[in-house]
Amino acid sequence: MASSPHVSFLLPCYNESAVVCETYRRVKAVADALGRIYEIVFVNDGSTDETLGQMLGLSLVDPAIKVIDLSRNHGHQLALSAGLQYCSGERILIMDADLQDPPELLPGMLELMDQGADVVYAQRRSRPGDGLAKRLACSVFYRFLGMLTDVPIPVDTGDFRLISRRVLDIILQMPERHRFIRGMVSWAGFRQTPIMYDRDGRFAGKTKYPFRRLMRLALDGIVASSVRPLALASWAGLLFAAGSLALLVYILWSWLFVGKTPQGWASLMMVVTVMGSIQLFVLGIIGQYLGRMHEQVRARPIFIVRDVFVQGRPVGLEYEKKQAGNR
Ligand code: UDP
Ligand code: MG
Repeated sequence: MASSPHVSFLLPCYNESAVVCETYRRVKAVADALGRIYEIVFVNDGSTDETLGQMLGLSLVDPAIKVIDLSRNHGHQLALSAGLQYCSGERILIMDADLQDPPELLPGMLELMDQGADVVYAQRRSRPGDGLAKRLACSVFYRFLGMLTDVPIPVDTGDFRLISRRVLDIILQMPERHRFIRGMVSWAGFRQTPIMYDRDGRFAGKTKYPFRRLMRLALDGIVASSVRPLALASWAGLLFAAGSLALLVYILWSWLFVGKTPQGWASLMMVVTVMGSIQLFVLGIIGQYLGRMHEQVRARPIFIVRDVFVQGRPVGLEYEKKQAGNR
């Protein structure tokens, strides 16, 4: 058997027929220039367009390509997780398939890894390719997340990164269903080094992260990385207990010494609505954790691989699969 690849390129794709061939061309150029063995792992995340056909077409002529075909659309983070299982390289480059993450950054990343880093994450110096609202929302999110977690998750950094095999092996041991891969990588520790880049716009096609999905990713990120929101609920309780004590003193005082209780419709309504909404909000926070626990306890497989293809042919689900991260 041939020796294992030096680098695995991992590219999750959902309806990316507009970009797959161009992405392959750019990745291939970078990979060939390395002068080392490499593999390109494409994950088809339940695309409904020509993406799979194009991947298979490319793999017919290029034996360095593995195609992991999922049974349906699972979402970016699960598509990545599925692909990671099939990466057999010593180093794994996780990148988007739309060329917002330039593969040409790889030589610089490899150099930093040669100097001892286990993770080289690409940090966005600027992202002119994304709209103002998205940039703002992401910027607020990363800073908020930073306040909530003890493990530092770098700001303005997506999943575009080079990780070493030993970090990958740790990620594969994590059986969590709601995955926030960049947080999981940060949690693993070792030496993590940034490399700065400017994030282009999409080469072609539309974003697969509409606002709704971004929100879900943000919630998964928070819940997966921190239990601090639960603790915040107790602090909020204490704060409101102090407030209501002050109110109680005021009411008793008015009754005893002023001779009348304050007229109360407005204040009563205020207390009822404020307290009601705070309680619902806190219940909602608990619900976010509880729902995820329920799904975790149910212990279904977190993704389903339909088939693995090499050189256009199915090779079976166990083909060069590394570890059972998928329970
Ligand atoms: N993606 C995926 N499954 C999904 C959504 C997205 O595999 O359900 C892939 C997509 O094909 C792309 C990457 O995840 O390679 C990032 O998605 P996109 O570029 O649309 O996100 P954005 O850059 O707009 O945040
Ligand atoms: Mg993109």
